This record gives sequence, C-alpha cells and structure tokens, in this order.
Amino acid sequence: MQEESAKEALRRRQNKVKRVKHIKNAIKAFALIYLIGSLCLIGYLLFSVYSLKEQVSQLKKTSIAEKTETGSSADAESDFSAVDAYGAEDEDNLADPDDTLKVYLTFDDGPSSNTGKILDILDDYSVKATFFVNGKTDSHSLKMYKRIVKEGHTIGMHSYTHDYSQVYASLDSFKDDLKRIQDLIYKETGVMSDLYRFPGGSSNQVSDTDMSVFIKYLNEQGITYFDWNVMSGDATNEKITQHDIIENVMNDVVKYKTSVVLMHDAANKDNTVKALPKLIEKLQSKGAVLLPITKDTTLVQHVTIKEDQ
Ligand code: ZN
Repeated sequence: MQEESAKEALRRRQNKVKRVKHIKNAIKAFALIYLIGSLCLIGYLLFSVYSLKEQVSQLKKTSIAEKTETGSSADAESDFSAVDAYGAEDEDNLADPDDTLKVYLTFDDGPSSNTGKILDILDDYSVKATFFVNGKTDSHSLKMYKRIVKEGHTIGMHSYTHDYSQVYASLDSFKDDLKRIQDLIYKETGVMSDLYRFPGGSSNQVSDTDMSVFIKYLNEQGITYFDWNVMSGDATNEKITQHDIIENVMNDVVKYKTSVVLMHDAANKDNTVKALPKLIEKLQSKGAVLLPITKDTTLVQHVTIKEDQ
C-alpha cells in the first residue's frame, strides 16, 4: 500500500515538472514570436518612411521640371515666376496665430493697360504696394511710372527688357540692362531705385550664367532684391479665376509674418485686377497690414549668397 502511494506521488511530481516545462516553452515561444513580429513591424515602418521620402523627392523634381517648362516658353510679357519659394521659408518668418500679418502686394511686368486700374483700386482702399517695372517708353507707360511714385507706391526694377536671353546673357549685359531701367525710372520719376526683382526670381532655372554672379553684383551696388513667398497664381495660369487668385493668396499669407505676394500688372491679367478689391478686403478683415516694400522690409529671397563667397 505504501509502495503504491509512493509511486503515485512520484508520478504526480513528474507530471508537474512536465507541466512547468510546457509552460516555460510556451512563454519562450511567445516571446520569440513577439520579438520577430516587432522586428518585422520596425522593418516595415522603416521601409515605408524610406519609400515615402523617395516619393516626395520625385514629386518635387516633377513639379520643378513642369514649372521650368512653363517658364522657358515665357515671352517678355509673361513671367517665369513659378519656382517654389525655396529659401523664402525662413523659420523666423513663420507666423504665430496672434501675429499681425504684414503683406506686401507686388506687381511685376508693368506698366500696362491695367496699371491705371490697379492704382485706382489701391487708392480706393488707401493701400500702398510695390511695382517692379520693366522699361517702356510709350507715353502711357511714362505717365504710369510717375503715377506709381506720386501716389506713394514703391517703384522697383524688374529689368529693362525682361528678355531672359538678354538680361542673363552675361554679367556685362545684366549690368547694361540694370543701368537702363534704373536710368529710365530716375529720369521719369526722380527716384533712384535700389530695389530689384529678378525676372523669374533669384531661383530661376532659365539663366545659363550662375545667378550668384548677378546677386553678387546687386549686393555690391547696394541694390536689394526681393523674391516672393506667396504666389497669386496669375503668372503661370492664363485662365486663373479671381476666386482662385484670392484663395491662393489667403491660404498662404497666414503662414508668414511677412508675406511678399507675387502678382502681375499686364494687359492679359484682367482677373488680377478684378480680384484685387476683394483680396484687399479679405486681407484687411484678417487684420493684415498692407505695406509697400522698403529697404527695411524683412528680406524674402529664394537664393542668397554669403558675403565671403
Ligand atoms: Zn516678370
């Protein structure tokens, strides 16, 4: 009898040992599966991040290529102005919700048959803006240069010819062109302009000559160039609606403390003129201050070069 119960006890102990062993194995297996699973998940996530990065860089390339195409076919009246504001995304310039927005409306390529209308609208709202003008000597244009200055707006240079193949052919031709537009503005208005907007912006991909050559020259001459960080969209899209112009500007001005808005003063840009009153009203209702560019305006430049370069 005693022998029987001793055997039974041994069997039970053996069973217990087996059970514990099973449980241990199960825990080990579970831990292993968990570890492998986690590694797989990490691998998958890393791969996703990598492939998303690739997609973003591909998209950027495509979009720049598309925009460059638009620009290369530009004639003297239309502007290659579609390059993204690379260098203009200055972190110091990002707006907090309670910042007062400073907005600089800029009009390129004038004077045109629309200049008078733009000036009238600005006058209606007592708003001052900036006109980056080209060289035109017909009597209407000469009057418009004078009106721009007389009515308190800033007049800046946007090259004389606006012909990329001439303006950017070499440093010498850039200098000649710059002197021509500066002299014309001075002769008509008495203002020796020291503000410049590169045709196509400082980041244009049209010039064969490295843009840093021209940038350096402007720096030496004490001429300040301004690009833009907000695009109305009237440069590349001929059929853009008033609504879209307003939307483009309103969507972007909220991002920056200082917004320099690219618009055009050209005969074929009627919707820019039509959009202007409502745009000004919307900006003002957001509490934005609309100002003309001066030498003290926060720089908005796509490409900058360091002094010692
Ligand atoms: Zn232009």
